[in-house]
Amino acid sequence: MRRKTMSERIRQIANGPPVFRFAPSPNGRLHLGHALSALLNADMAKSCSGRLLLRLEDIDLTRCTPEFEQAILADLDWLGLAYEQPVRRQSEHFALYRAALDRLIERGLAYPAFLTRGEVKARVSAYEREAGPWPRDPDGAPLYPTEERHLDAGEREARLATAERFAFRLDMEKAIACLDGPLCWQDSGDGERGDITADPAAWGDVVLWRSDAPASYHLAVTVDDAAQGVTHVVRGLDLFHATAVHRLLQVLLGLPAPLYHHHRLILGPDGRKLSKSQGDTALGALREKGMTPSDIRTLVGI
Ligand code: GLU
Repeated sequence: MRRKTMSERIRQIANGPPVFRFAPSPNGRLHLGHALSALLNADMAKSCSGRLLLRLEDIDLTRCTPEFEQAILADLDWLGLAYEQPVRRQSEHFALYRAALDRLIERGLAYPAFLTRGEVKARVSAYEREAGPWPRDPDGAPLYPTEERHLDAGEREARLATAERFAFRLDMEKAIACLDGPLCWQDSGDGERGDITADPAAWGDVVLWRSDAPASYHLAVTVDDAAQGVTHVVRGLDLFHATAVHRLLQVLLGLPAPLYHHHRLILGPDGRKLSKSQGDTALGALREKGMTPSDIRTLVGI
């Protein structure tokens, strides 16, 4: 059977105009990978008379700065990206993420977790010395130990009263038990395509909220995509597997599922994904070297 094109899929699901979003984090300068993402979003929105939103994912209040935000806006203006106003800043919506967290807590699906990174690391090393590999998530990080799922109420209260820091984590086992069938998403991107079976269990008990960062990426992105009526999520393949967590949270919170398009990544000369610290692929640096927005399109191959 012929694969449906993006615009056929768009017509199939959208009631109003399709809604796309570009969602950078202002914790560094934009690089060529961001340019590919931003331009793909803009091109796809244009091809189906859709809307393009800009969302600044600035929940990490220590690493995100107003200077980076200004630089991102300047780079996007230079690229010619036409997005709607107002721009959404996640830092202005912490109450919304907290309300979503509270719904999960009330249903017993989220629990306070107290182990520090160092404690988890020590636990994992000790286990691996004795018993072989500890399970890892798709990014290679060890899964969080699960015993705090079962702390009794008294102990939980006592630890909450004294803990310097803690997080709320999703009880993945209980969350998956809420599903009444397989969890899937539709992807039209450059990796696996079609109906993708989501495997949220691969991530273990993900963080939803930290006492020192008022929402996690997973929670904020899921709540915001729904709050903004996003119908099409176009982003890099580095977030392909994270989509499993987003789909699970959408089901738990009763939110609609957008279509996904995870695009290829732009790699640096070392063959690795570009990072915000690699200054020579920063859009600002390329602009200063005299490149034009159309040179950037050529460089990223669209
Ligand atoms: N803020 C994320 C980033 O800059 C992107 C999140 C998303 O597109 O879902 O990598």
